[in-house]
Amino acid sequence: MTNDGGTETSSVVVSLSMKILHLPAFAAVFVALSAFPLVAQHSLPGLSVTPLRPAPGGIVRVALESAGDSVLTVTGDMAGEALHFRRSTQSLWRAIGPMPVDATTATVRAFTEYSSGRVDTSLVSITPPVRAPSTSRPRRLAVSSRFTRPLDSATQARIDRENELAREIGRRAHDTPPLWSASFLRPRPSAVTSRFGSGRMFNGTVTSRHLGVDFSGGVGATVRAANRGVVALADTFFLAGSVVYLDHGGGVVTGYFHLSRTLVSPGDTVERGQQIGLVGATGRVTGPHLHWSARYGALTVNPVDLLSLGAYYYGAQRER
Ligand SMILES: [Zn+2]
Repeated sequence: MTNDGGTETSSVVVSLSMKILHLPAFAAVFVALSAFPLVAQHSLPGLSVTPLRPAPGGIVRVALESAGDSVLTVTGDMAGEALHFRRSTQSLWRAIGPMPVDATTATVRAFTEYSSGRVDTSLVSITPPVRAPSTSRPRRLAVSSRFTRPLDSATQARIDRENELAREIGRRAHDTPPLWSASFLRPRPSAVTSRFGSGRMFNGTVTSRHLGVDFSGGVGATVRAANRGVVALADTFFLAGSVVYLDHGGGVVTGYFHLSRTLVSPGDTVERGQQIGLVGATGRVTGPHLHWSARYGALTVNPVDLLSLGAYYYGAQRER
């Protein structure tokens, strides 16, 4: 099969035959196309993913273009998470998707269903950039003992519970319709003091990685909702301290950690830019700051990628 340009930013791979080998449900479509290739005037949908080589934890933008037949629905998935396509124009559907932090590859699948009953399957496989082996890999990190001391089993169990709770909030966000109709905002205007993904490696294994973005701020400084959403949780976690999780719908959740004060309650609908809490130093921190995190479904993603989504991804014409 020819590679369609193979650019770094976008590529289109439409595969029926490959997929059908694994999905008997589509065998009928495959047979029909194979038996009557000359009468298949139907043009297959084009699926593109940007960027094609996202960083681990990156959010990709997915576009599906389908000319011709009337499309009833477009569904899909990526890395085990549902994609929520929105119709941008008569023939263009868009969604965002999550590149897992740990995966070496991920497949975006889109299922286009037509009024005729036909279903087309489109696939794009993406891979994060290959990381050159670090020449400055630390042999032994000088980490404070409070970060390396083994946790007692009760504390570890609590952390596991809290992590599972956060994942569950992400999963539930798939069932909430997208609540935002404008771009995402930074929760603080201040400097980023630690980026997403910075980490340490021991024996070739990442043992500690920063899965959020830190913003500077003194105790009591304002923390704002990055977008409209519903407060899914306001609680105290062992590592994250006082936390607020916002369910923005469409699978997207943002989290705000280490707060000194929470100004919202579970179930509240908060507006984009609304003050939801105050910067603090609760939980396991070395000083006051805001740690901002995001999930797409159960997967942790880089919240900064939310800031650059175009208007297509928060279309105003959707129904609620
Ligand atoms: Zn942080």
